[in-house]
Amino acid sequence: MAIKGQIFELLIEDMTDEGAGIGKADGYPLFVKDTVVGDRVRAQVIKDKKTYGYGRLLEIIEASPDRTAAACPVAAPCGGCQLQALSYDAQLRFKEKKVRDALRRIGGIDLGGSDAPEFLPIISMENPWHYRCKAEYPVRRNSDGSIVTGFYAGRTHSVIGCGDCLIGQPGDRDILDTVIGWMNEFDVEPYDEETGLGLVRHIMIRTSGSTGEKMVCLIINGKRLPFADELAARLGETVTSFSYSINTRRNNVIMGREIKTVSGRPYLEDAIDGIKYRISPQSFYQVNPQQTARLYDRAREFANLTGSETVWDLYCGIGTISLFLAKSAKQVYGVEIIPAAVDNARENAAINGIENAEFFVGKAEEVLPQHFAKTGERADVIVVDPPRKGCDETLLRTMAEMSPSRIVYVSCNPATLARDVKILKDLGYRPEKICPVDMFPQTVHVESIALLQRLSNTRSKEVTLDVDMKDYHRIKSEGR
Ligand code: SAH
Repeated sequence: MAIKGQIFELLIEDMTDEGAGIGKADGYPLFVKDTVVGDRVRAQVIKDKKTYGYGRLLEIIEASPDRTAAACPVAAPCGGCQLQALSYDAQLRFKEKKVRDALRRIGGIDLGGSDAPEFLPIISMENPWHYRCKAEYPVRRNSDGSIVTGFYAGRTHSVIGCGDCLIGQPGDRDILDTVIGWMNEFDVEPYDEETGLGLVRHIMIRTSGSTGEKMVCLIINGKRLPFADELAARLGETVTSFSYSINTRRNNVIMGREIKTVSGRPYLEDAIDGIKYRISPQSFYQVNPQQTARLYDRAREFANLTGSETVWDLYCGIGTISLFLAKSAKQVYGVEIIPAAVDNARENAAINGIENAEFFVGKAEEVLPQHFAKTGERADVIVVDPPRKGCDETLLRTMAEMSPSRIVYVSCNPATLARDVKILKDLGYRPEKICPVDMFPQTVHVESIALLQRLSNTRSKEVTLDVDMKDYHRIKSEGR
């Protein structure tokens, strides 16, 4: 136990999901912002809880050998790149450890044990900068009266302006400046969160990894965008899709449901491994095209298809993984909750001449059980790629009942991956291989892909689960 105000000298041994350093003050875990693994620091306790506390950095006594100067001038206030002060090698080690720790602590998987899954080295980037192909820039009026667009300062809603973002796409800043110039010229007001007044909330820019073309979508607090043609003319030819999205709700959701195309096409086109993808503004699409290709390659390797299989791709977005696997499967089914993304998926199958892919709109945890109850058809391979909260337990049970020989689990959150792998293990699926992928260099986030194989003769329905969800939530709330 430490008391507020106390000063400690400590070694930073780990980092939280948010990128704060963690050290032990006489055995008491202290979270200290602006420190990295390997730093020896002096810190003062600013908040003391029963089992852990928060400390303020007073002095770096000895800098970690992995510490490096952040390349971006606004790295600290922006907070989007929590790991810029860590060398890229150390970032990769940190991410591998994060996945291993989650598997051990939450998944109960002993990676050193005799039947341990194979832990493949993290798939890294040669150049871990300028990889993001999508950003949503908030627009606000500054206290000095000027219009600013950039990023939210870490954990706040005040906007800091920035030049071209070092993990984003060169050229975005020019587009942002064009929009601000147009707003000034035509007296178009930025949104004000306090009053709920003003029009322009966000500027979403997406860049095609294969063609360099750009999509611009203004998210507005109104039904109509005035002087839209004037802005279209100013945006020029690299912007091949210009639209606006109507979001008049006062909440933190960025995209509205209704989209109106002003000029160009209602979608952006990208290609991965020869397959063309059309992406509408509201559809999910992986933000790092180069690493996505590597992730999908690994998914194809893990799926190990011969051409005779029935494959389900759950949480399929615009059908990227489905279409990637369709060539080597008999039939692929995709399930996705966003109708516009499913429209894209169907269109994408058509423009690529793929006829053995079918898509369903709805929640995976509802569509799959209903389909299985109706048809009783088993699956050969199931791929899942859920959002951060992972899969619903009912979905995991249905998956096991459909008795695929392989499950390929793509995850953006090691904690829920570990939880779900544990559940699947209890349902008769053995984790064979796990591979982290660095989709988000400079940030604390890590993608992983796991291969699970069905153990023979498992009668999944009779298995009772022994995952203690209280344990999972406790570990999560401890912040590591
Ligand atoms: N596999 C795709 C998308 C993965 S992101 C790709 O690689 O591009 C996760 C997707 O799951 C998003 O498109 C999101 O809209 C969708 N989603 C979220 N909750 C869902 C649910 N309960 N059922 C089905 N899809 C869901």
